Amino acid sequence: MSALQHHSNWIDGAYQTATEKTITLINPATESEIATIDSTPLETVKSIITSSLENFSSGIWSKADASTRFGVLSKAATLLRSRLPEFIDLETQQTGRPIREMRAQLSRVPEWLEYFASLARTHEGRVTPFKGTVVNTLTRLPLGVVVQITPWNHPLLIATKKIAAALAAGNSVIVKPSESAPLSVLKLGQLFQEAGLPDGTLQIVSGYGRETGKFLCESPLIAKIDLTGGLATYAAIAPTASKNLIPITAELGGKAPICIFPSMAVEKGVRAALFASFIASGQTCVTGSRLLIHSDIYDEFVELLVRRTRDLRVGAPTDDRTQIGAVISCASVERCARFVSQAVAEGGKILCGGEPTDVNGKGFFFQPTLVESKAGSNLACNEVFGPVIALIRCESEDEIVKVANATSFALGASVWTNDFSQAHRVAEKIDAGIVWINGHHLNDPSSPWGGFKESGMGKENGIGAYESYTKVKSTIINYGQEPSWFDDEVENARYG
Ligand code: NAD
Repeated sequence: MSALQHHSNWIDGAYQTATEKTITLINPATESEIATIDSTPLETVKSIITSSLENFSSGIWSKADASTRFGVLSKAATLLRSRLPEFIDLETQQTGRPIREMRAQLSRVPEWLEYFASLARTHEGRVTPFKGTVVNTLTRLPLGVVVQITPWNHPLLIATKKIAAALAAGNSVIVKPSESAPLSVLKLGQLFQEAGLPDGTLQIVSGYGRETGKFLCESPLIAKIDLTGGLATYAAIAPTASKNLIPITAELGGKAPICIFPSMAVEKGVRAALFASFIASGQTCVTGSRLLIHSDIYDEFVELLVRRTRDLRVGAPTDDRTQIGAVISCASVERCARFVSQAVAEGGKILCGGEPTDVNGKGFFFQPTLVESKAGSNLACNEVFGPVIALIRCESEDEIVKVANATSFALGASVWTNDFSQAHRVAEKIDAGIVWINGHHLNDPSSPWGGFKESGMGKENGIGAYESYTKVKSTIINYGQEPSWFDDEVENARYG
């Protein structure tokens, strides 16, 4: 028996171990084993779905009134805020991301619970302008048992966004966190129980995507799938979901361009690029992974950017001074290295970085890397999900827009300029779900988040996300006193 702490599934209001079969989690920064989780067998997953269906049909949460849902989600926010340090430690250990990043990110996560608590309390139905002596009300009902499949890069943030929206709308929720970083999400189970959520309303199930996740997504009994992950995962689950008529919200990959124009002060643009590109070691779906720089400032910009990139402090994530932490796995290091060598083979020029590295001889680290590249090259078009950034010189505003739109992804993009007209002109032409002007990575629970093209469909955040967890019921009330059909008077009146 392993001496590592085992983190069990959260099922029906208790931590329950589903199996002898476990998955060992590795701290990517030290390569040490940190814990084990269940590799949940399919029989158990099946019984969890059954139990969730019972929870939903009991009405204990699905029919709870708005003020109850508001109260539970608000209390969950307060509890989470009071326990942030333990969540921050877990996130740092399991992702290898610098502790200062995790502090900044997690301090905002309770806001998602507060926002959706408020929506639960304030969202109103509608009355349509139906013709005649009729009142037509539209009410929103929860969907049923919804499945949420979440990734490892922002484990707590992404799971909380989805859980908050689904619970606010009255659904019963089954979450399958990433097998690489599930610990903080598993902890949410008990926290929600303490906040007053009825047992069985939120189930958290560990396991591999291709087993546990696949089984959940293929169930015809579920009412919605909300996935954040790669395109291949979407492609694996979509056919069965489509056959079962189950809607999917899909938050997938990206290749966000950072468009730098000459009116932007070089110093400010460089700071913006460092933040956009290297936060989370480039492992976010909106990583500014393509720097499209106007040729008027290209040389000056690149010279400063290279200097600043070389100065970034790669180190132990637990060290407060560390700016660049690990990437998630050895496979991820290899993937970064493959992208670099292919970029060179395609004529790209490495300006800095380009190699795997370590901290005290351990860990999955890759140097912050800048590669001068051609538009259309592999590095300029495909998602690395690591700190390997393509720099592309563009001759004009039109060229920047053209290159920005020339990938199959369309999630995030940022435009850096002090020319007000140019900012609007360019933002309008960029095909992406999120366009920032003089900002990047800015996120808020009220602001819709999601991409176009192969970056996915549907939105997280905002009123739309809440509504996507509901179905609309139309109730048509006739208060007129007219005679009924098959009465001669009526038929003659209608056809006369
Ligand atoms: P992934 O697709 O490998 O895994 C995501 C989740 O899907 C995990 O829980 C995994 O276990 C599960 N999964 C894998 N195969 C499955 C299957 N066949 N059936 C059901 N579930 C399955 O992605 P990842 O490596 O964890 O995350 C990286 C990807 O996520 C990147 O492409 C990134 O851009 C994307 N991402 C997107 C957003 C966004 O908001 N659009 C945010 C974060 C990450």
